[in-house]
Amino acid sequence: MSVSIINKQIEEKASLQKSFLKTANMLFGKEWDELTKEELYQTLVNTIRQYVSENWIMTNKYYAEHNCKEVYYFSIEFLLGRLLNSNLINLDMKDICKDALADLGIDINELFKQEPDAGLGNGGLGRLAACFIDSMASLGLPGHGCTIRYQYGLFEQKIINNQQVEIPDNWLKNGFAWEYRKADKEVRVNFGGNAYMAEQEDGSLKLVHEGYDTVSAVPYDVPIVGYHNNVVNTLRLWNAEVPKDYASLSGTREQLQERLRQSYRIQAITSCLYPDDSSYEGKLLRLTQEYFFVSAGVQSIVRHYKRRKGALSAFANQVAIHINDTHPAMAIPELMRVLVDVEGMDWEKAWNITKNTIAYTNHTIMPEALETWPIDMFKKLLPRIYMIIEEINARFLDNIRKMYPGDEERVRRVSIIQDGMVHMARLSVVGSHSVNGVAKIHSDILKSYSMKDFNEIYPKKFNNKTNGITHRRWLIAANPELSSLIDEAISDKWRRNPSRLIDLLDFKDDKAFLDKLDEVKKGHKLYLAGHIKRRIGFDIDPNSVYDIQVKRIHSYKRQIMNILHVMYVYNWIKRDPSIKNQMLPRTFMFAGKAAPGYHIAKETIRLINTVASVVNNDKDVNDHIRVVFLPNYSVTLAEKLFPAADVSEQISLAGKEASGTSNMKFMMNGAITLGTLDGANVEICDAVGEENCIIFGLKAEEVMEYYKTGLYSAWTEYNVNPKVHDVVDQLLTGPFVGNGDFHDLHNYLFSSNDEYFVFKDFMSYCAAHSKIKAKYNDHYGWLKSSLINIAHSGQFSSDRTIAEYAKDIWNVHPINLIKE
Ligand SMILES: *Cc1c(COP(=O)(O)O)cnc(C)c1O
Repeated sequence: MSVSIINKQIEEKASLQKSFLKTANMLFGKEWDELTKEELYQTLVNTIRQYVSENWIMTNKYYAEHNCKEVYYFSIEFLLGRLLNSNLINLDMKDICKDALADLGIDINELFKQEPDAGLGNGGLGRLAACFIDSMASLGLPGHGCTIRYQYGLFEQKIINNQQVEIPDNWLKNGFAWEYRKADKEVRVNFGGNAYMAEQEDGSLKLVHEGYDTVSAVPYDVPIVGYHNNVVNTLRLWNAEVPKDYASLSGTREQLQERLRQSYRIQAITSCLYPDDSSYEGKLLRLTQEYFFVSAGVQSIVRHYKRRKGALSAFANQVAIHINDTHPAMAIPELMRVLVDVEGMDWEKAWNITKNTIAYTNHTIMPEALETWPIDMFKKLLPRIYMIIEEINARFLDNIRKMYPGDEERVRRVSIIQDGMVHMARLSVVGSHSVNGVAKIHSDILKSYSMKDFNEIYPKKFNNKTNGITHRRWLIAANPELSSLIDEAISDKWRRNPSRLIDLLDFKDDKAFLDKLDEVKKGHKLYLAGHIKRRIGFDIDPNSVYDIQVKRIHSYKRQIMNILHVMYVYNWIKRDPSIKNQMLPRTFMFAGKAAPGYHIAKETIRLINTVASVVNNDKDVNDHIRVVFLPNYSVTLAEKLFPAADVSEQISLAGKEASGTSNMKFMMNGAITLGTLDGANVEICDAVGEENCIIFGLKAEEVMEYYKTGLYSAWTEYNVNPKVHDVVDQLLTGPFVGNGDFHDLHNYLFSSNDEYFVFKDFMSYCAAHSKIKAKYNDHYGWLKSSLINIAHSGQFSSDRTIAEYAKDIWNVHPINLIKE
């Protein structure tokens, strides 16, 4: 390093230290050495905010001055996790901060731990949104997020007596250090009342909406820092508040009391995240939440546009709105409302703008997870929005009747309003110019099955954008040791351009390199063992194979099949202890939350923990297999697990998992996928080759065929297959039944006719585990596969995904703020 660079670094460090000490005094009125860890953390974030806000202002100026088209990514969830480490890495300030604090005797890693996880999401859908905004900023794309500022995030999970207990996640209790309240950017959102068309004096019709309740929407902006590019975008969190003029009104005692009740109702709108991402309870509050953030978002976009850009006719050339699943689908009628009712535009023109502005991502083909709302509820809460949807539907159906005269059956199948319900997915397809699935197989199923009719009507609308994950969080931040090793081999170009990871293939037969890869993995396994010991006081064997399934607990994800296999291995060793010599020592790890109202998922957690306590306490087996359920799966826990994983369990029933993204995080950290041909597993397998992953189970077409013919019988599978028979019986009697049996799980499996084909796939799942063993025993063969997985993981960076969205859907372009 040249003297001038070293001098510059010393200078920067000194200035950072100075700023840190000044911030400490300013915030807390004390000397820095009297601060608590929490206060030190707050001080550090506030120091960093000064650097971030400079770039933030510069970025927004640039967008305005260059008239850039901007994207708004609407999502009811953003599962951010912690931001400090990731922001420091993206700012290229981590090393200097670490040094500056170390000089003061402060360990920066201790400060990272003070940050609460921003758990504003349930799982994959919310985490996807978080990866996407990271990629948009890092690619220099003008792209922002829009969501709800939930006062309580996803519940914290504790395991008590083997069962899930939910604790409220009061993540804001010490404040959220990264947010900026923007009171001046408030907008008003109206609910209820009466809406109708009234005749004007000149005979024209005009909308009247009266007697509604008004909620104030106040944005809290979070800066989203791009990687080494000076770009800072915005994630806008909307908070529901009582309108200011409201509190000061006088009135009778009754009126005041009613107003008080009303203000509680308003605050309730943004108080809780719905802890369920796969089936929608018809909850009025949920509908209120959806309209609340969508209306606030759309209104503020239009206001910003009018101030900056002028004539609304060019709106769709300047603004793209993306709806992540159907929860923000009311962006379609809301934009129509603003353009038609508020701006006085005619319907046709407004409709063209709306369609050209909005794009939609579908996340599920499971019918029970498709969002629908009862007409009565909808009309009452959102009378004008309902009218607009009726009009959209009427015009759409007119066209369909012209395209398919006499085909009323088809009209029924595609109607947005049908059988007393409003169908949000249908609204989303009709009101957007692009509909994408999230993995090849998923997009194909959409086109040929679940949205076949729509694909015939709009063949060009449908496309695929395979999901991705940000390699900055899931490799650079989560696994610095592996990242450095990759740098050594292929230089650090992959950090900016993850497709360069493919260059690692040159090292696939380099034993010295593979040994280093092995060392890195061992280090993480040891670290995770230590973490587990500290967290739950349990010992695992760091030399065992870490076989990990982490994701929301859901029947279609088939955690049940995984634990039934553990029971099967347990029985096998008990019957014939000598078999252990032929077995791999393994630690089966699980983590994941169950929706509080989802009984079968909660029973699955109880079963896993019960099996764990039997297996782990049985001396005949616990030197060979152990089972761990890690409580409170979250982004922060996930960051510790992927780097330590050997085997990635991706065992959903084929055709059910739209994409999956943890499969990508695992592969990027060198784990081998043990999975079905479902979601992005298919593309992972295509990329790495069949010899570098282990695939088992029914194919999606076979599953479809069973559903179609109705020829599947859980009882038959159970009766013809002794392995299935034995473990399923153990849900009712035997070693795992002590504190209550698993009657409900047993009953569920049979009464649903084994809806996710656990019995059918069980044998091939067991066989897949044997293949794992054979593969692992070939030490260098395993490491080679691990390396090949890492090398091909670049295509699963969300940078690739977002570049595709930008080019194919949004038509937005990167900016360059790098000062030469
Ligand atoms: C990636 C991730 C998910 C999604 O996992 P899938 O296996 O794709 O369902 C859920 N939760 C967290 C915390 C994650 O990081």
